Amino acid sequence: MRLMRDEHITTIGRCYACKRTFGFIPATVTTITIDPDTGLPPGMTVLGTQREPTAEALARSVEETVCPDCVNRARRFAESAQPSALQFETWSRGTPDGD
Ligand SMILES: [Zn+2]
Repeated sequence: MRLMRDEHITTIGRCYACKRTFGFIPATVTTITIDPDTGLPPGMTVLGTQREPTAEALARSVEETVCPDCVNRARRFAESAQPSALQFETWSRGTPDGD
């Protein structure tokens, strides 16, 4: 019996965020840890704030796969959600041609 190199085997899974079925390579796919009790990552409250996750939350949490589209979207959202309003203000004030 010959073992195949398993890092190139594509698996079909479902994106936790958009519920889309997509193919991925397990070694490279992005996963998020979700507490099934809240549907949110352990330690994140429904208000979107972070707190120290409880041991129970961590114990019941499962890894969910996320498709590349959602990863990119989340990354852009995270960037735009940064408290960068001040930076942007400074930046736009420094380029007066945008008026
Ligand atoms: Zn998705």
